[in-house]
Amino acid sequence: MLTGCRIAFLGGDARQIEVIRHCSELDASITLYGYENLKNEFTGAVKKNITQNAFQDIDAVVLPVTGIQDDGTVDSCFTNKQIVISEEHFTFASKDILVFSGIASIHLKNYCAKTRGKLIELMKLDEVAILNSIPTAEGAILMAIQNTDFTIHSSNCFVLGLGRVGMTLARTLSALGANVYLGARKPEDLARAKEMGMNAFHIAEMPNNIQKADIVFNTIPAPILDASSLVKLPSHALIIDLASKPGGTDFRYAEKRGIKSILAPSLPGIVAPKTAGKIIANSLARLIIEHKSGLGVNSSEIIR
Ligand code: NAP
Repeated sequence: MLTGCRIAFLGGDARQIEVIRHCSELDASITLYGYENLKNEFTGAVKKNITQNAFQDIDAVVLPVTGIQDDGTVDSCFTNKQIVISEEHFTFASKDILVFSGIASIHLKNYCAKTRGKLIELMKLDEVAILNSIPTAEGAILMAIQNTDFTIHSSNCFVLGLGRVGMTLARTLSALGANVYLGARKPEDLARAKEMGMNAFHIAEMPNNIQKADIVFNTIPAPILDASSLVKLPSHALIIDLASKPGGTDFRYAEKRGIKSILAPSLPGIVAPKTAGKIIANSLARLIIEHKSGLGVNSSEIIR
């Protein structure tokens, strides 16, 4: 239970509703900043305007998946007002404060470093990222279906990267009857792809393989689909780039070649906000409860 635990939510999208609901059910005392337009009411939750001392007497701050932007703004779907967080807000926070963010900018890391607060980047936790890969894969396949005039079944689907998203996506495409080509750099990943019945190739060999592709799904957050590969890609092929911004595709060159390429961020929040919110809620509540009960947050879970 989160009885007696004071949690401040700052901004967010539809996913955050599930997180607030879960914390409310666990009896937390909740303050919502940037939620004026939200119709839902939650037991134990009050809506307020942000003030300089908003983090005073707070055990955990929950930021949106996108965290704090470089100019200090915090995105919220539930207000027309701008929420801006500065270093000063963190000077009121206790050194034990937990700060949850999907991803963390350098700014946020610096703020937390100064307060000695514990910053947890939820999207970096395996338990979140692995489950989050399910709506990501479903969203990517939805986009592929919407942007092609052929079936995924029997088509040549290239998946670049065999991390948490790549693994789920490759397996799902395979189950749909696609011919999956998996590009990775680690020998063990290439071995795993073969074991999964896929065509495995070293990522450095992409220019020699990509001419077979109908759809390319990139999960590698590095400039991997460069001109040397794109020049070999058939013009009917579709690229869905899932990697964090700016993606791994030379979009300018792809467009020049007439290849449709789409950067597709935040798919879980778009295609399955309820599921994505529950995934975040479960891990966040577990971490707060463990921290509260003195178990501490594992060092692998603390970014600093
Ligand atoms: P991950 O588990 O870290 O996997 C990343 C993969 O990229 C690994 O296979 C890694 O290989 C490979 N890689 C990284 N740098 C590389 C390089 N320079 N050359 C070759 N391979 C490289 O990450 P993930 O959780 O799968 O997420 C993948 C990306 O998708 C991230 O950018 C993440 O932010 C993004 N994402 C997007 C969505 C969305 O909705 N679009 C949702 C979730 C995640 P090694 O192991 O060899 O390093």
